[in-house]
Order: sequence, then structure tokens, then C-alpha cells
Amino acid sequence: MNNKYVERVLDNLKNQYPNETEYLQSVQAWLEMIEPAVDDPRYEKMDLLTRMVEPERMFSFLVPWVDDNGVAHTNHGYRVQFNSAIGPYKGGLRFHPTVNASVVKFLGFEQTYKNALTGLPIGGAGGGADFDPRGKSDREIMRFCQSFMNSMYRYIGADTDVPAGDIGVSSREIGYLYGAYKKLTGRAESSALTGKGLTYGGSKIRQEAAGFGAVYFLNRMLEHQGESMQGKRIAVSGFGNMSWGVCRKVAELGGKVVTLSGPDGYIYDPDGITTQEKFDFMVEMRQGGADKVQPYAEKFGVEFHPGKKPWEVAADVVMPCATQNEIDVEDAVCIIANGAGYYVEAANMPATAEALKLLRMSPKILTAGAKAAGSGGVVVSALEMAQNSIRYSWTRKEVDQRLQAIMSSIYDASAAAAEQYGLGYDLIAGNDIASFKRIAQAMMAQGL
Ligand code: GLU
Repeated sequence: MNNKYVERVLDNLKNQYPNETEYLQSVQAWLEMIEPAVDDPRYEKMDLLTRMVEPERMFSFLVPWVDDNGVAHTNHGYRVQFNSAIGPYKGGLRFHPTVNASVVKFLGFEQTYKNALTGLPIGGAGGGADFDPRGKSDREIMRFCQSFMNSMYRYIGADTDVPAGDIGVSSREIGYLYGAYKKLTGRAESSALTGKGLTYGGSKIRQEAAGFGAVYFLNRMLEHQGESMQGKRIAVSGFGNMSWGVCRKVAELGGKVVTLSGPDGYIYDPDGITTQEKFDFMVEMRQGGADKVQPYAEKFGVEFHPGKKPWEVAADVVMPCATQNEIDVEDAVCIIANGAGYYVEAANMPATAEALKLLRMSPKILTAGAKAAGSGGVVVSALEMAQNSIRYSWTRKEVDQRLQAIMSSIYDASAAAAEQYGLGYDLIAGNDIASFKRIAQAMMAQGL
């Protein structure tokens, strides 16, 4: 890095949190991107960058719960209230055994800059627990969510911090969390959580939003190249909420998603995941709780590749939809060799630092980051808050049109910022710079 201040901020962070690899990885990648925009001497004078890369507040708590056999378990819960410069803290909760302080901080950090470009008044947050929902009964999930909320309810609220879902937390968990919040506070405060069910303050399109948003973003990139979705083959990872929305919207626009993956391997469906039966089966597999994608291959008679990742399949577009660091250097080499034209991140930080560098350097691949293309979920979360506060509910079409317009404006802001800093059509750098500038402006205006 050339900027001494940027370098110092990163060094300090590395000294302070030497073992938090995901968190350091996400901050370092971001600092490299925004460096050309750290062009105002007041930033250093106010030590703005340190306050932008560290959470304003973070807490952890124990989550004790009893399983169906009466055996007690103790998990670790976290909430990171990362940045409130432009609105109440806002971000998902992840229930997964890999969750720790580093993971929730990386999620809160990415969420802050993802949320900044939605144009909606939301800050950034992250959280979750090292709980493994696999194989748990419905009652166990409910008791876990209630215990989690017991420890968290004091610190969240419509104007303070608004949690939502992420991996392992879908509308069922949000329902139990919201029910517990309501009992503990005695308030039907709808905007205290988003991703709620449609009968109690949820927004239409929220389930579809993450995937639809990513495809709307991709569509703008295709248009920019004078292309369309028609006939495109898309390689996707995961089979959860994000991939499900991507499959549906891609099919609607005339393309086809040809892969899905799970911890057990990937499936290859050359006809594409384009029918209602296939979409519904994805939901069924997810709700079954086994976290395996193999049943898809058995049901539809397609190839299953155990222990492998979908990146070895040749596709026009690659869209990681599962989790962090699911693309390493070997995968990136494969994606480039297979001739993909677009790499669009839907999951948060899906590539390792080295893999992302390779993909960005490849002259034939256009790249977009998760802080832009992965915004659809939180966009509709913020629209859910808007509807709750006006005690009204928009139609599917109204929400979808707003989602599409906001994804387009994120695309435009990213492209414009890259252009302004002489970086050409660099959507990742442009997105990071545009969101950095927006939060920097808000923080400077509000003082220390
Ligand atoms: N976890 C989602 C994300 O990564 C949703 C956050 C929200 O809706 O608050 O953006």
C-alpha cells in the first residue's frame, strides 16, 4: 500500500486482532480498494479509518438450551453493532458451527458497506451463534432461539439494532426470535427484526430478495456488454435461500442455473434448475435439515460429484451463493480456464484474497462484489422496516420494482465511482469507494 495512513490502520488492526483471519481479510481487501479515495487530509486528522474498520460495539453471551432428551447444551452468541453513521445497526444472524468473533466481525463490516449504498437509512451489524441447526427438532430450534433472544433483547430495537436472517436463520427462526422479543418486551415492535412471516409484519419478496437482487445486478452487467440472460449457463454454489432466488430469476429471464452444491458435493443439471418442481425441491431439501444436495441428483436423475465444488463446470457466469472462502486459487484458475465471462459474488466474501486477485486480473472476466450484488436481502429488509413504520403493506410488484430500482442504483453508483477515480469498469473498487465516501461523509458530519 502507498498511503502511510491506510498502512498504519491495517497494521494496528493486525496487531490488535492477530487471530481474526476472516475479519482481517475483509478489511484488508477493502482498504486496498478504497486507497485511491483516501484523498482528504481530514480523514487522518479525525482518525476516520480506524473508526470505519472497527465495530462501535460488540458483545458476546452464552446461549444455554435443553435438547429433546433433557440434555443441556451451551453455545456462544454474538452481536456486532458495527456502524450507525447512517441509521440503526442492521444485519443478519448466522447459526453455524463456524461462527466466532472473527466471522461476525467480518459479516458486520461487510454489511456496513453493503447497506450504505442501498440509499436507505440503515447502519451495519452482524451476529449469530456457533449453534449447528443440522438434525435439530423444531422444538429444539425454538428453545434455542428463545434463549438467544433472552440475552440479546435489551440491545436491539427498531431504532437501535435490527437483526435479520443469514445462514441457518430463515423465517422459521426469525418467527421464534420475534415471538420471544415480543414476550420479553411486551411490544409488537415490528421493525425490531426483519425477514418476518407475511402474517405478522413481513414483506412480500423478502424470501426471494437476496437471489433476485443478485440477478438484477448481473443483468445490468450483461446489458453493459450488450448481452442478455437468454441462453446463459450459470454455475451456482449452495442450495439455500440465495441460490433458490437466483435459480428462479435466472429462469424467468431465459437463462439456466446448472449447478448447486452442499457440504457433500455438487450436482450438475444440464437442463437447468428452471422448473417449479425443482425450485420447490430445493426448499424441501433445505427444510429437511440434513444439509445435503445429493437428494437432488437422486430425484431428478442428474450427476452428483461427491466432495467436489461446482467451479469445475464450464459456465458463462459464476455466482458463488454459499459462504466465505469457498473459492480458492485452484478454483479461480479453473473458472478462468473454463472461459467464464462474469464472476458475480452473491455470498459474503466467497473468494480468498489470492483467488479474488486472480479473477480480477483476468482480462476476460467481469467481476462484481458481494457488497453490491449481494444487497438484495437487506434492501427488502429495509423496505420491510419502511412498511412496518407506515403500517402498510405494498404489493409484490411494488416491492419487486423498488428492489430492482435500488439494485440498479447500486450498480450505477459503483460504476460512476470507478469512473471518477480513473479505474475504468471496476465495479468492486467502485462499489467500495462509493460506500466509503457515503459513510465517511456521514461520520465527518456527525463529529467524534
Ligand atoms: N444476511 C443478509 C445479508 O447478508 C441480510 C441482512 C438483513 O436483512 O439485515 O445482507
